[in-house]
Amino acid sequence: MTRKAPWPAATTLVAGVIGDPVRHSLSPSLHNAAYAALGLDWAYAAFPVAPGDVPDAIAGALALGLRGLSVTTPHKEAAAAAADGRSSLVVRLGAANTIRFRDHLALAESTDGVGLLDDLSAAGFDPAGERVAVIGAGGAARAAVLALAEAGAAEVVVVNRNRANAEAAAALAGDVGRTGALEELAEAALVVQATPLGMARRRGEAAAGDDSLAASLAFGERVAKGQLAYDLIYDPPETPFLATAAANGATVRNGLGMLVHQAAHQFVLFTGEPAPLPAMWAALGGEPPKDVTGDQDAR
Ligand code: NAP
Repeated sequence: MTRKAPWPAATTLVAGVIGDPVRHSLSPSLHNAAYAALGLDWAYAAFPVAPGDVPDAIAGALALGLRGLSVTTPHKEAAAAAADGRSSLVVRLGAANTIRFRDHLALAESTDGVGLLDDLSAAGFDPAGERVAVIGAGGAARAAVLALAEAGAAEVVVVNRNRANAEAAAALAGDVGRTGALEELAEAALVVQATPLGMARRRGEAAAGDDSLAASLAFGERVAKGQLAYDLIYDPPETPFLATAAANGATVRNGLGMLVHQAAHQFVLFTGEPAPLPAMWAALGGEPPKDVTGDQDAR
């Protein structure tokens, strides 16, 4: 369907993102830029949804004829539970970042893991046969653990504060998954930082006296030349983890590319059209990075 005017019309198909908070989200920019690039008569908006309201939000979106919802923190588990159907990946993860609406049903999908793999590929990193480490055991970490194992990693080591959560995340990687200590980050070809430590919105909390900054720095201190340090965070572009790892000579990359690629997969699920990646990158103000340090060959 082709859009004739730059504003929504009676024919416009609608998608959006639910989260709490969600007004900071880059998803509207990414998806609307993709619609514009292909001339699609679609519009994408951000919908703040309070915890506990996720089932009503999904049912309401279905009733209103929305074509898809992206799902962000803290609603990924609730969205998976509230959907009418779940992909096998969502069943394993217990979380969804995507709801697509088909035949009057809300179907839960997850594109975070494939988004990470696409961006690692763009950075020239192939997890196959490699020892990799994931810091964290939340929804994003679990998606990363499963994706890296399915991409053929030789070993996926989960490093996390809470032991039980670490074991549950490592189990997703089957035979190649195990939990590990902070010191073991030094032995991984790839270290994925998948906690919220270092996020711009948490800086006030760190200043107020928790140990978030120290923990983020401690992760980076274990990563050095010959390793790829990947932070799922993209705001700020350089977290304390990445800054410390870069100072040690590691190749570093933030999560902006993962954001773009997971959105591109959602775009395909929602519209059935190939995603215009250059337009999506342009919406964020630039070209995809080869790497942040300019030292990708150091690996
Ligand atoms: P989450 O479910 O809340 O998971 C948080 C994890 O971080 C938990 O394992 C938790 O450990 C750990 N953690 C939290 N505070 C900690 C602290 N002070 N010290 C040590 N560990 C701590 O979060 P999430 O949804 O997985 O998201 C994680 C990050 O990934 C967020 O910054 C999010 O924005 C980012 N993300 C980026 C993308 C992208 O496209 N780039 C996609 C998804 C997520 P415990 O288990 O011990 O509690």
